[in-house]
Amino acid sequence: DPVLLWFRQDLRLSDQAALAAAAAEGPVIPVYVLDDESPRPWAMGGAQRWWLHHSLARLDAALRDKGSRLILRRGKSDDVLAQVARETGAGRVHALHHYEPWWRNAEKAVARHLDLCLHDGGLLLPPGAVRTGGGGFYKIYTPFARAVMEQMPPASPQRAPARIDAPDAWPQSDRLQDWALLPSAPDWAADFSADWTPGEDGARANVAAFIDEVGDYPQARNLPSIEGTSRLSPHLHFGEVSPAYVWHRVASSNRNAEIFLKELIWRDYAHIQICEKPAYGSDNARGDFDRMDWRDLREAKADFAAWKTGRTGYPIVDAGMRQLWTTGWMHNRVRMIAASFLIKHLLIDWRHGARWFWDTLVDADYANNSVNWQWVAGSGVDANMFTRIMAPLSQSEKFEAADYIRQWVPELATLSDEAIHDPDAHDARPSGYPAKIIGHKAGRERALAAYRRMKR
Ligand code: FAD
Repeated sequence: DPVLLWFRQDLRLSDQAALAAAAAEGPVIPVYVLDDESPRPWAMGGAQRWWLHHSLARLDAALRDKGSRLILRRGKSDDVLAQVARETGAGRVHALHHYEPWWRNAEKAVARHLDLCLHDGGLLLPPGAVRTGGGGFYKIYTPFARAVMEQMPPASPQRAPARIDAPDAWPQSDRLQDWALLPSAPDWAADFSADWTPGEDGARANVAAFIDEVGDYPQARNLPSIEGTSRLSPHLHFGEVSPAYVWHRVASSNRNAEIFLKELIWRDYAHIQICEKPAYGSDNARGDFDRMDWRDLREAKADFAAWKTGRTGYPIVDAGMRQLWTTGWMHNRVRMIAASFLIKHLLIDWRHGARWFWDTLVDADYANNSVNWQWVAGSGVDANMFTRIMAPLSQSEKFEAADYIRQWVPELATLSDEAIHDPDAHDARPSGYPAKIIGHKAGRERALAAYRRMKR
């Protein structure tokens, strides 16, 4: 009998333990299910649908090179897999573990009808492999990272099978074009392909290019004006490379890679948190934040719109928000500044910001997004303090964002390095660029007052 291979956020052929196991058993039917029901309300956002379209096209081509192909179906994962199993006589499903709460529920539902075999490989270490002395999970990143480091390197990545046996007959497949994953009228993703090559080959090319630069990462990663980070996040989210592969390639470069490898551990850390608190994306991890009187979004509507469209009058925030809209990605330093501005200066609930990111980021990831937003808000398990309020203008200066601002806020392109971070203060604001929607001091004081009320 054929076996099913259930692809989700693991769109690769190498170091794919579910594929290896399926291929060793007999004919394989690889299936991708476009499931907007199980994740609700976390169905995939717009930017990721663009990514998914291209990644699936690449995956199908790679499978065809090995004598196989990708079957596309739409619907609730467990219903669809049960249906494909009935059509093909398959009884077993191989898949990689995923830790989003809706995937864990879907796995339970699939296992009611079929023999589901789950494999590791989406993280450096499976959750549960690292425990505190008391047997619990780590809530704090630093000791977690130390414990992970002791178990590194991860197992060596496995090569893709040379051939994948096809079944006697293929079940019907949807046509990718009919899923309409690509935006049209307007095509707001028109510029995405200048920045990204979704798929396993693109991911590996990114790793190869980054290896030459990893030695500069400790300094370069904080400077948004240069491309000093790996830009692997969407590839890692969609599983186009395994973290073990990235680890081994980077660690064998003989450059000082420790700081970079520790960032990869942040990804594991975030996934542990959503295993322990599946509602991390919707509920404050610290309950006192339930009492925070965020501004009502009806009252704050214009401010929220200014933030989303990059018209807050804070050049570094606006540059970031426009980079996000245009490319589906934002530099990490600027994500922190923009998120902090929304939560503190605008006193808007972090969940609204996280939602916007969910729809606009090509790397939108339930664990990474939720944990980082709550970290900035101060409502997370291992949180930054709410009262540590980032000053966007001095951050912009400190991290030399002038060229970054010039690139993304062309209205300010002719301003000097001194004036560009805070055009108003230098009497240099061009008429087409908005005044600050709130002063730094006013925003800061309003946020601190709200925090004090919450704590009372
Ligand atoms: P690099 O610096 O090259 O890091 C390598 C990899 O390590 C990344 O690809 C990522 O997988 C992982 N990583 C790095 N930093 C973090 C971090 N702080 N937390 C978890 N993993 C990390 N990252 C996402 O992948 N998806 C998200 O939805 C997401 N939302 C975020 C929201 C906010 C408010 C903030 C402050 C950060 C968010 N991040 C998110 C984390 C981080 O900004 C991105 O992972 C990083 O910018 C991706 O770029 P890179 O691949 O060049 O990173």
